[in-house]
Amino acid sequence: MGARCDVAVIGAGPAGCAAAIALKRLGVASVLLLEAGDGARPRFGESLPPDIRLILAQLGLAEAFAALGFDPCVGAASSWGEDGLGYNDFLFNPHGLGWHIDRARFDAFLRDAAVAAGAELRFDTVFDSVVMTGDAARLRVRGERGDETITAGFVLDATGRAARVARALGAERIESDRLVCAAALIRIDPDGLLGQRSLLEAVDYGWWYAARLSPDEAIVVVSTDADLLRARRLHRSDAWYGHLAATRHVAAALGTAAPPSQLMVRQARSSRLSRAADQRWRAIGDAASVYDPIMAQGVTKAMIEGLAAARDIVRHMPDAEEGLDARFADYLSLRDYFYGQEGRWPDAPFWTRRRRPQPAVRTLWEVSA
Ligand SMILES: Cc1cc2nc3c(=O)[nH]c(=O)nc-3n(C[C@H](O)[C@H](O)[C@H](O)COP(=O)(O)OP(=O)(O)OC[C@H]3O[C@@H](n4cnc5c(N)ncnc54)[C@H](O)[C@@H]3O)c2cc1C
Repeated sequence: MGARCDVAVIGAGPAGCAAAIALKRLGVASVLLLEAGDGARPRFGESLPPDIRLILAQLGLAEAFAALGFDPCVGAASSWGEDGLGYNDFLFNPHGLGWHIDRARFDAFLRDAAVAAGAELRFDTVFDSVVMTGDAARLRVRGERGDETITAGFVLDATGRAARVARALGAERIESDRLVCAAALIRIDPDGLLGQRSLLEAVDYGWWYAARLSPDEAIVVVSTDADLLRARRLHRSDAWYGHLAATRHVAAALGTAAPPSQLMVRQARSSRLSRAADQRWRAIGDAASVYDPIMAQGVTKAMIEGLAAARDIVRHMPDAEEGLDARFADYLSLRDYFYGQEGRWPDAPFWTRRRRPQPAVRTLWEVSA
Protein backbone atom coordinates (compact mmCIF):
# COMPACT_ATOMS: atom_id res chain seq x y z
CA MET A 1 0.00 0.00 0.00
CA GLY A 2 1.27 3.52 -0.81
CA ALA A 3 1.85 6.38 1.61
CA ARG A 4 -0.92 8.48 3.14
CA CYS A 5 -0.70 12.08 4.29
CA ASP A 6 -2.93 14.96 5.28
CA VAL A 7 -1.40 17.35 2.75
CA ALA A 8 0.88 16.57 -0.19
CA VAL A 9 2.90 19.59 -1.34
CA ILE A 10 4.27 19.07 -4.85
CA GLY A 11 7.40 21.15 -5.50
CA ALA A 12 9.93 22.30 -2.88
CA GLY A 13 10.58 25.85 -4.11
CA PRO A 14 9.74 28.91 -1.97
CA ALA A 15 5.95 28.40 -2.32
CA GLY A 16 5.99 24.70 -1.40
CA CYS A 17 8.46 25.11 1.47
CA ALA A 18 6.59 28.08 2.98
CA ALA A 19 3.35 26.07 2.81
CA ALA A 20 4.95 22.97 4.37
CA ILE A 21 6.51 24.98 7.22
CA ALA A 22 3.23 26.79 7.93
CA LEU A 23 1.15 23.60 7.79
CA LYS A 24 3.39 21.91 10.35
CA ARG A 25 3.44 24.98 12.60
CA LEU A 26 -0.36 25.07 12.44
CA GLY A 27 -0.50 21.48 13.69
CA VAL A 28 -1.17 19.44 10.54
CA ALA A 29 -0.02 15.92 11.40
CA SER A 30 1.50 14.63 8.16
CA VAL A 31 2.86 16.85 5.40
CA LEU A 32 4.66 15.26 2.46
CA LEU A 33 6.87 17.56 0.36
CA LEU A 34 7.72 16.01 -3.01
CA GLU A 35 10.48 17.51 -5.18
CA ALA A 36 11.31 16.37 -8.71
CA GLY A 37 14.90 17.61 -8.59
CA ASP A 38 17.84 16.95 -6.33
CA GLY A 39 18.12 20.58 -5.25
CA ALA A 40 21.10 21.28 -7.51
CA ARG A 41 19.41 22.98 -10.52
CA PRO A 42 20.32 26.69 -10.76
CA ARG A 43 17.34 29.03 -10.35
CA PHE A 44 16.57 32.67 -11.02
CA GLY A 45 15.32 35.08 -8.40
CA GLU A 46 18.14 36.64 -6.42
CA SER A 47 16.72 40.06 -5.44
CA LEU A 48 14.56 40.01 -2.33
CA PRO A 49 12.69 43.18 -1.30
CA PRO A 50 12.76 44.43 2.31
CA ASP A 51 9.17 43.34 3.04
CA ILE A 52 10.07 39.65 2.72
CA ARG A 53 11.09 40.12 6.37
CA LEU A 54 7.40 40.05 7.27
CA ILE A 55 6.77 36.64 5.77
CA LEU A 56 10.04 35.21 7.12
CA ALA A 57 9.02 36.43 10.59
CA GLN A 58 5.59 34.80 10.28
CA LEU A 59 7.29 31.52 9.42
CA GLY A 60 9.65 31.92 12.40
CA LEU A 61 12.68 32.17 10.11
CA ALA A 62 13.74 35.83 10.38
CA GLU A 63 16.75 35.28 12.64
CA ALA A 64 18.00 32.16 10.89
CA PHE A 65 17.71 33.97 7.55
CA ALA A 66 19.67 36.99 8.84
CA ALA A 67 22.41 34.61 10.01
CA LEU A 68 22.93 33.43 6.41
CA GLY A 69 24.66 36.77 5.80
CA PHE A 70 23.46 37.46 2.25
CA ASP A 71 24.67 40.62 0.50
CA PRO A 72 22.37 43.54 1.40
CA CYS A 73 20.68 45.39 -1.46
CA VAL A 74 20.37 49.12 -0.78
CA GLY A 75 18.01 49.81 -3.71
CA ALA A 76 18.13 50.16 -7.48
CA ALA A 77 19.82 52.43 -9.99
CA SER A 78 18.01 52.53 -13.30
CA SER A 79 18.25 54.07 -16.72
CA TRP A 80 14.56 53.82 -17.58
CA GLY A 81 12.85 56.53 -19.61
CA GLU A 82 16.03 58.61 -19.61
CA ASP A 83 19.68 58.16 -20.56
CA GLY A 84 21.08 58.93 -17.11
CA LEU A 85 20.67 56.87 -13.95
CA GLY A 86 17.88 57.46 -11.45
CA TYR A 87 18.06 56.09 -7.90
CA ASN A 88 15.40 54.38 -5.85
CA ASP A 89 16.87 53.50 -2.47
CA PHE A 90 15.46 51.42 0.38
CA LEU A 91 16.85 53.97 2.81
CA PHE A 92 13.41 55.11 3.94
CA ASN A 93 11.71 51.74 3.64
CA PRO A 94 10.17 50.86 7.03
CA HIS A 95 11.31 47.24 6.60
CA GLY A 96 14.96 48.13 6.02
CA LEU A 97 17.22 46.96 3.20
CA GLY A 98 16.64 44.16 0.71
CA TRP A 99 19.04 41.37 -0.25
CA HIS A 100 20.85 39.83 -3.17
CA ILE A 101 20.76 36.15 -2.31
CA ASP A 102 22.44 32.99 -3.52
CA ARG A 103 19.22 31.35 -4.67
CA ALA A 104 20.45 27.74 -4.31
CA ARG A 105 21.45 28.42 -0.70
CA PHE A 106 18.17 30.20 0.03
CA ASP A 107 16.06 27.33 -1.35
CA ALA A 108 18.16 24.80 0.61
CA PHE A 109 17.60 26.91 3.75
CA LEU A 110 13.82 26.76 3.22
CA ARG A 111 13.85 23.01 2.57
CA ASP A 112 15.88 22.42 5.75
CA ALA A 113 13.39 24.57 7.67
CA ALA A 114 10.49 22.51 6.30
CA VAL A 115 12.16 19.28 7.44
CA ALA A 116 13.00 20.80 10.84
CA ALA A 117 9.32 21.79 11.20
CA GLY A 118 8.35 18.14 10.69
CA ALA A 119 7.52 17.82 6.98
CA GLU A 120 8.74 14.70 5.16
CA LEU A 121 10.80 15.79 2.14
CA ARG A 122 11.48 13.44 -0.77
CA PHE A 123 13.89 14.50 -3.53
CA ASP A 124 13.94 12.97 -7.02
CA THR A 125 10.21 12.31 -6.78
CA VAL A 126 8.15 13.40 -9.77
CA PHE A 127 4.41 13.98 -9.66
CA ASP A 128 2.78 12.30 -12.68
CA SER A 129 -1.00 12.31 -12.32
CA VAL A 130 -3.87 12.65 -9.87
CA VAL A 131 -7.35 11.21 -9.46
CA MET A 132 -9.77 12.98 -7.15
CA THR A 133 -12.06 10.68 -5.17
CA GLY A 134 -14.82 11.81 -2.83
CA ASP A 135 -12.63 12.43 0.19
CA ALA A 136 -9.02 12.23 -1.03
CA ALA A 137 -6.59 12.83 -3.85
CA ARG A 138 -4.76 9.79 -5.22
CA LEU A 139 -1.40 10.86 -6.65
CA ARG A 140 0.82 8.82 -8.95
CA VAL A 141 4.49 9.67 -8.40
CA ARG A 142 7.79 8.33 -9.73
CA GLY A 143 10.84 8.24 -7.50
CA GLU A 144 13.63 6.23 -5.95
CA ARG A 145 10.99 3.87 -4.57
CA GLY A 146 9.67 3.27 -8.11
CA ASP A 147 6.09 4.15 -9.11
CA GLU A 148 3.88 4.79 -6.13
CA THR A 149 0.35 5.90 -5.29
CA ILE A 150 0.06 8.43 -2.48
CA THR A 151 -3.28 9.22 -0.88
CA ALA A 152 -3.58 12.80 0.37
CA GLY A 153 -6.40 14.72 1.99
CA PHE A 154 -5.31 17.83 0.09
CA VAL A 155 -2.79 18.66 -2.66
CA LEU A 156 -0.87 21.89 -3.11
CA ASP A 157 0.53 22.49 -6.58
CA ALA A 158 3.82 24.34 -6.00
CA THR A 159 5.51 23.08 -9.17
CA GLY A 160 6.34 26.54 -10.52
CA ARG A 161 5.18 27.73 -13.92
CA ALA A 162 4.78 24.13 -15.11
CA ALA A 163 1.74 23.81 -12.77
CA ARG A 164 1.80 20.03 -13.13
CA VAL A 165 -1.11 19.28 -10.81
CA ALA A 166 -3.39 22.03 -12.13
CA ARG A 167 -2.58 20.94 -15.65
CA ALA A 168 -3.41 17.31 -14.83
CA LEU A 169 -6.75 18.58 -13.51
CA GLY A 170 -7.54 20.42 -16.74
CA ALA A 171 -6.58 24.02 -15.88
CA GLU A 172 -5.03 26.13 -18.64
CA ARG A 173 -2.36 28.81 -18.43
CA ILE A 174 -3.34 32.22 -19.76
CA GLU A 175 -0.32 34.22 -20.90
CA SER A 176 -0.04 37.97 -21.38
CA ASP A 177 3.31 38.39 -23.14
CA ARG A 178 6.30 36.54 -24.61
CA LEU A 179 9.06 37.67 -22.25
CA VAL A 180 12.17 35.52 -22.03
CA CYS A 181 15.40 36.00 -20.05
CA ALA A 182 19.00 35.00 -20.81
CA ALA A 183 21.24 35.16 -17.75
CA ALA A 184 24.82 34.45 -16.78
CA LEU A 185 26.94 34.52 -13.66
CA ILE A 186 29.94 36.75 -14.25
CA ARG A 187 33.19 37.21 -12.35
CA ILE A 188 33.62 40.88 -11.42
CA ASP A 189 36.30 43.06 -9.94
CA PRO A 190 35.63 43.36 -6.16
CA ASP A 191 36.68 47.02 -6.40
CA GLY A 192 34.54 47.68 -9.50
CA LEU A 193 31.55 50.02 -9.85
CA LEU A 194 28.76 47.47 -9.29
CA GLY A 195 27.91 48.15 -5.68
CA GLN A 196 25.05 46.97 -3.48
CA ARG A 197 22.34 48.41 -5.75
CA SER A 198 20.56 46.46 -8.47
CA LEU A 199 21.27 48.04 -11.84
CA LEU A 200 18.59 48.26 -14.54
CA GLU A 201 19.05 49.61 -18.06
CA ALA A 202 16.36 49.76 -20.73
CA VAL A 203 17.47 49.18 -24.33
CA ASP A 204 15.47 49.24 -27.56
CA TYR A 205 14.98 45.42 -27.50
CA GLY A 206 14.20 45.04 -23.76
CA TRP A 207 16.20 45.60 -20.58
CA TRP A 208 19.39 44.52 -18.86
CA TYR A 209 19.73 43.84 -15.16
CA ALA A 210 22.83 43.26 -13.03
CA ALA A 211 23.16 42.49 -9.33
CA ARG A 212 26.19 41.63 -7.24
CA LEU A 213 25.82 38.30 -5.45
CA SER A 214 29.19 38.45 -3.68
CA PRO A 215 32.19 40.79 -3.95
CA ASP A 216 33.49 38.95 -7.02
CA GLU A 217 30.36 37.56 -8.70
CA ALA A 218 27.32 39.15 -10.36
CA ILE A 219 24.22 37.88 -12.11
CA VAL A 220 23.57 39.63 -15.41
CA VAL A 221 20.28 39.17 -17.25
CA VAL A 222 18.80 40.41 -20.50
CA SER A 223 15.00 40.31 -20.81
CA THR A 224 13.36 40.55 -24.21
CA ASP A 225 10.63 38.88 -26.27
CA ALA A 226 11.20 35.36 -27.59
CA ASP A 227 11.27 36.42 -31.27
CA LEU A 228 13.70 39.28 -30.53
CA LEU A 229 15.95 36.95 -28.55
CA ARG A 230 16.21 34.65 -31.56
CA ALA A 231 16.63 37.48 -34.09
CA ARG A 232 19.52 38.95 -32.09
CA ARG A 233 20.88 35.51 -31.12
CA LEU A 234 20.84 36.54 -27.48
CA HIS A 235 20.65 32.87 -26.50
CA ARG A 236 24.27 32.54 -27.74
CA SER A 237 27.07 33.61 -25.38
CA ASP A 238 29.01 35.56 -28.02
CA ALA A 239 26.03 37.63 -29.22
CA TRP A 240 24.79 38.07 -25.64
CA TYR A 241 28.19 39.40 -24.59
CA GLY A 242 28.37 41.68 -27.64
CA HIS A 243 25.00 43.24 -26.74
CA LEU A 244 26.09 43.57 -23.10
CA ALA A 245 29.27 45.37 -24.17
CA ALA A 246 27.11 47.88 -26.09
CA THR A 247 25.09 48.90 -23.01
CA ARG A 248 26.05 52.16 -21.40
CA HIS A 249 25.61 51.66 -17.66
CA VAL A 250 25.70 47.89 -17.15
CA ALA A 251 28.89 47.45 -19.18
CA ALA A 252 30.55 50.32 -17.30
CA ALA A 253 29.58 48.87 -13.92
CA LEU A 254 30.88 45.40 -14.81
CA GLY A 255 34.20 46.77 -16.04
CA THR A 256 36.43 44.22 -17.70
CA ALA A 257 34.28 41.20 -16.86
CA ALA A 258 35.08 38.16 -18.99
CA PRO A 259 32.45 36.62 -21.34
CA PRO A 260 30.29 33.96 -19.69
CA SER A 261 31.00 30.29 -20.31
CA GLN A 262 27.33 29.38 -19.90
CA LEU A 263 23.97 31.10 -20.44
CA MET A 264 20.69 30.13 -18.79
CA VAL A 265 17.62 30.91 -20.89
CA ARG A 266 14.19 30.85 -19.23
CA GLN A 267 10.66 31.89 -20.12
CA ALA A 268 9.40 34.76 -18.01
CA ARG A 269 5.93 35.31 -19.51
CA SER A 270 3.36 36.88 -17.22
CA SER A 271 0.57 34.37 -16.82
CA ARG A 272 -2.12 32.97 -14.58
CA LEU A 273 -4.13 29.77 -14.41
CA SER A 274 -7.69 29.59 -15.71
CA ARG A 275 -8.58 27.80 -12.44
CA ALA A 276 -6.28 27.65 -9.42
CA ALA A 277 -8.21 25.91 -6.62
CA ASP A 278 -10.96 23.48 -5.74
CA GLN A 279 -12.11 21.52 -2.70
CA ARG A 280 -9.03 19.24 -2.64
CA TRP A 281 -6.29 21.21 -4.39
CA ARG A 282 -4.83 24.66 -4.82
CA ALA A 283 -2.01 26.12 -6.93
CA ILE A 284 0.41 28.51 -5.22
CA GLY A 285 3.41 30.59 -6.29
CA ASP A 286 4.38 30.54 -9.96
CA ALA A 287 2.06 27.59 -10.49
CA ALA A 288 -0.89 29.94 -9.88
CA SER A 289 0.46 33.09 -11.54
CA VAL A 290 3.78 34.35 -12.84
CA TYR A 291 4.84 37.99 -12.54
CA ASP A 292 7.36 39.83 -14.73
CA PRO A 293 10.83 39.61 -13.14
CA ILE A 294 11.06 43.41 -13.38
CA MET A 295 8.85 43.44 -10.25
CA ALA A 296 11.27 41.21 -8.24
CA GLN A 297 8.23 39.91 -6.33
CA GLY A 298 8.12 36.25 -7.36
CA VAL A 299 9.73 34.72 -4.27
CA THR A 300 7.80 36.92 -1.84
CA LYS A 301 4.50 36.24 -3.61
CA ALA A 302 5.21 32.50 -3.65
CA MET A 303 5.85 32.44 0.11
CA ILE A 304 2.81 34.60 0.92
CA GLU A 305 0.59 32.28 -1.11
CA GLY A 306 2.11 29.21 0.58
CA LEU A 307 1.37 30.64 4.02
CA ALA A 308 -2.15 31.73 3.03
CA ALA A 309 -2.95 28.30 1.59
CA ALA A 310 -1.80 26.59 4.81
CA ARG A 311 -4.07 28.84 6.88
CA ASP A 312 -7.05 28.23 4.61
CA ILE A 313 -6.54 24.45 4.69
CA VAL A 314 -6.46 24.46 8.48
CA ARG A 315 -9.58 26.66 8.59
CA HIS A 316 -11.30 24.20 6.22
CA MET A 317 -11.60 26.88 3.55
CA PRO A 318 -9.34 25.27 0.97
CA ASP A 319 -11.04 26.74 -2.09
CA ALA A 320 -11.15 30.28 -0.69
CA GLU A 321 -8.68 31.36 -3.39
CA GLU A 322 -11.06 33.84 -5.01
CA GLY A 323 -8.70 36.77 -5.26
CA LEU A 324 -6.37 35.47 -7.97
CA ASP A 325 -8.07 37.28 -10.88
CA ALA A 326 -8.24 40.60 -9.03
CA ARG A 327 -4.65 40.36 -7.79
CA PHE A 328 -3.43 39.48 -11.25
CA ALA A 329 -5.34 42.42 -12.78
CA ASP A 330 -3.72 44.75 -10.20
CA TYR A 331 -0.33 43.32 -11.03
CA LEU A 332 -0.87 43.83 -14.79
CA SER A 333 -1.82 47.49 -14.21
CA LEU A 334 1.37 48.04 -12.23
CA ARG A 335 3.49 46.25 -14.82
CA ASP A 336 1.96 48.26 -17.68
CA TYR A 337 2.45 51.52 -15.76
CA PHE A 338 6.10 50.65 -15.22
CA TYR A 339 6.76 49.79 -18.87
CA GLY A 340 4.79 52.90 -19.86
CA GLN A 341 7.47 55.06 -18.21
CA GLU A 342 9.90 54.21 -21.02
CA GLY A 343 9.22 56.23 -24.18
CA ARG A 344 12.60 56.53 -25.90
CA TRP A 345 11.93 53.95 -28.62
CA PRO A 346 8.36 54.61 -29.80
CA ASP A 347 8.65 52.26 -32.80
CA ALA A 348 10.68 49.40 -31.30
CA PRO A 349 8.60 46.18 -31.17
CA PHE A 350 9.46 45.38 -27.54
CA TRP A 351 8.08 48.72 -26.36
CA THR A 352 5.14 49.10 -28.77
CA ARG A 353 3.88 45.67 -27.61
CA ARG A 354 3.93 46.94 -24.03
CA ARG A 355 2.10 50.14 -24.87
CA ARG A 356 -0.59 48.08 -26.61
CA PRO A 357 -0.67 44.99 -24.39
CA GLN A 358 -1.09 41.74 -26.29
CA PRO A 359 -4.33 39.76 -26.01
CA ALA A 360 -4.11 36.96 -23.46
CA VAL A 361 -3.34 33.56 -25.02
CA ARG A 362 -4.19 30.09 -23.69
CA THR A 363 -1.08 27.97 -24.08
CA LEU A 364 -0.21 24.39 -24.80
CA TRP A 365 2.09 24.14 -21.79
CA GLU A 366 5.46 24.62 -23.41
CA VAL A 367 7.91 25.13 -20.57
CA SER A 368 11.24 25.70 -22.26
CA ALA A 369 12.06 29.03 -23.94
C1 LIG B 1 14.85 35.69 -15.10
C2 LIG B 1 14.08 35.67 -13.81
C3 LIG B 1 14.47 36.51 -12.79
C4 LIG B 1 13.76 36.53 -11.59
N1 LIG B 1 14.16 37.38 -10.62
C5 LIG B 1 13.49 37.42 -9.45
C6 LIG B 1 13.93 38.27 -8.40
O1 LIG B 1 14.92 38.99 -8.53
N2 LIG B 1 13.23 38.25 -7.23
C7 LIG B 1 12.13 37.45 -7.05
O2 LIG B 1 11.53 37.47 -5.97
N3 LIG B 1 11.71 36.62 -8.03
C8 LIG B 1 12.35 36.59 -9.22
N4 LIG B 1 11.95 35.73 -10.20
C9 LIG B 1 10.78 34.86 -9.96
C10 LIG B 1 11.06 33.72 -8.97
O3 LIG B 1 12.21 32.99 -9.36
C11 LIG B 1 9.85 32.79 -8.92
O4 LIG B 1 8.68 33.57 -8.82
C12 LIG B 1 9.91 31.81 -7.73
O5 LIG B 1 10.98 30.90 -7.90
C13 LIG B 1 8.60 31.05 -7.62
O6 LIG B 1 8.70 30.09 -6.60
P1 LIG B 1 7.80 28.76 -6.66
O7 LIG B 1 8.07 28.02 -5.42
O8 LIG B 1 6.40 29.11 -7.00
O9 LIG B 1 8.34 27.95 -7.94
P2 LIG B 1 9.79 27.36 -8.25
O10 LIG B 1 10.84 28.13 -7.56
O11 LIG B 1 9.83 27.25 -9.73
O12 LIG B 1 9.76 25.89 -7.61
C14 LIG B 1 8.98 24.86 -8.18
C15 LIG B 1 9.53 23.51 -7.73
O13 LIG B 1 8.67 22.47 -8.19
C16 LIG B 1 9.46 21.38 -8.64
N5 LIG B 1 8.67 20.58 -9.60
C17 LIG B 1 8.31 20.91 -10.86
N6 LIG B 1 7.60 19.91 -11.43
C18 LIG B 1 7.51 18.93 -10.50
C19 LIG B 1 6.88 17.64 -10.49
N7 LIG B 1 6.22 17.15 -11.56
N8 LIG B 1 6.98 16.88 -9.37
C20 LIG B 1 7.64 17.34 -8.27
N9 LIG B 1 8.24 18.56 -8.23
C21 LIG B 1 8.17 19.35 -9.33
C22 LIG B 1 10.66 22.06 -9.28
O14 LIG B 1 11.77 21.17 -9.39
C23 LIG B 1 10.91 23.22 -8.32
O15 LIG B 1 11.80 22.88 -7.29
C24 LIG B 1 12.64 35.69 -11.41
C25 LIG B 1 12.25 34.83 -12.44
C26 LIG B 1 12.95 34.82 -13.64
C27 LIG B 1 12.51 33.89 -14.74
